Amino acid sequence: MTLGDLPATADVVIVGAGSAGCVVAERLSRNPDRTVLLIERGSSEWPTEAVRDLRGLPIALGSPYAVPHEEPSGLAVVRGRGFGGSSSVNGGYFLRWHADDFADWPAGWRIDEIGSSYAELDARGGTMSVSPFADGELAEVTARFESYWSGIVPVRPPDDAWPIVGLNRVRSNRDGMMRRTAAEAYLRDALGRTNLTICADAEVAGLRRSGAQVTGVVVGDTVVGAGEVVLCAGAIGTAVILLRSGLGGPTDRDVLAVREHREVLVHYRSRVDGPPTALLQSVVHTADDLEIRCYSSDMARYIKGLPPVGPAIGVAAMRPGTRGTVRMAGGGPIVDLGVVDVAEAARLDRGVATVADMLRSPVFADIVEPGSVAVDPVVRTSQHAWGSMPMGPRTDELGAVVGVRGLRIVDGSILPTAGRSGPHATIMMVACRIADVLAGR
Ligand SMILES: Cc1cc2nc3c(=O)[nH]c(=O)nc-3n(C[C@H](O)[C@H](O)[C@H](O)COP(=O)(O)OP(=O)(O)OC[C@H]3O[C@@H](n4cnc5c(N)ncnc54)[C@H](O)[C@@H]3O)c2cc1C
Repeated sequence: MTLGDLPATADVVIVGAGSAGCVVAERLSRNPDRTVLLIERGSSEWPTEAVRDLRGLPIALGSPYAVPHEEPSGLAVVRGRGFGGSSSVNGGYFLRWHADDFADWPAGWRIDEIGSSYAELDARGGTMSVSPFADGELAEVTARFESYWSGIVPVRPPDDAWPIVGLNRVRSNRDGMMRRTAAEAYLRDALGRTNLTICADAEVAGLRRSGAQVTGVVVGDTVVGAGEVVLCAGAIGTAVILLRSGLGGPTDRDVLAVREHREVLVHYRSRVDGPPTALLQSVVHTADDLEIRCYSSDMARYIKGLPPVGPAIGVAAMRPGTRGTVRMAGGGPIVDLGVVDVAEAARLDRGVATVADMLRSPVFADIVEPGSVAVDPVVRTSQHAWGSMPMGPRTDELGAVVGVRGLRIVDGSILPTAGRSGPHATIMMVACRIADVLAGR
């Protein structure tokens, strides 16, 4: 690994060593004749085992592994930083999207190829070391959750890779209870390659352009020339770089759209207190596109500094996703997650009512304190921001930005639709697939 001085040029400059960026850097540097520079704003220190422990989320204010973003309604919006990006701080839930979530993707995204790229990550022996939580690992509340729902909806066998409308045991990217990050899976083994230079503690401020041609990136006072720039800075980080470079929305250059899975929490007071475990081990996907999330314990157990408010079951609206915006103000980004529309609010209300009934049912009688079920009035965020530069209207099917030469995006920004599962596995699948095609060129 080369840390430190930036080279003057590289054939490919990749911005962001997160979930997608690690995959792209590894694939493109397999060819020793291609020089690849990977630039990451976070620290050159690799996340320690304490950071990667799934029994915590290292995103508390001041964490060196997370960047908070201002949100007008006061929601805490964070993204990961450092090697692994958000894969180093996330919940470790690694579910594919449903096979029919890809129906409206651009030509070139065939379901058999999508399946093979997912399998690279999540099949037995796959790069992300994915396995379902075992029965013996489940939190008490999760065991009750599964027992309640298994009498009502279809149940996916935990080893089946594709989720279903019904009960889905979470599959997790992990080595024991350590998150398996994209950096561990892809970057570590590529560190010795002489054609791969990695510069950490270096933030890309913008793109250098000559008309419609991107010629490099700007880092502090330095310009690094690039044959091609690949933005892997995440849906918010990439949006910020584009906005700073005059490449924002098609009608308003100062704004980019972003989508989010908004979530309502149904709290209760628990009568049991089991050993700490991963945050989310089982979910139900409903026919009306909600994800009901059984959190293992109070969020305060996972994030330092949060006041304890009791455990919760989450109800998240997965498709089509709430529309928000990213815009620059005073040099920094404002991430406005927007408001849920009437139809989405009604759907969330139905899900919340279902969850309240569940918590008051006999299955939960000895773990939920009577009279303690309460709905959080705030519609929160899943920290899933995606879709600011969707494939189709804004990029081609390989992330090449429409109307600009020498610029590609490979990260959560280019997801063109919403899925019924979280985005992590799918963003990495997209990176594998695109990087495969690019590496063969
Ligand atoms: C707290 C949290 C929990 C989550 N839990 C889950 C979950 O359990 N399951 C799930 O499916 N999804 C989850 N997600 C979402 C998922 O982790 C992300 O969608 C995914 O990791 C994003 O991948 P990415 O490659 O698009 O961006 P990231 O992984 O965020 O990578 C972007 C990288 O670019 C770097 N960067 C940004 N700007 C610059 C710049 N200007 N210069 C240089 N470097 C830059 C960042 O530091 C970062 O390392 C969670 C997200 C968070 C934040």
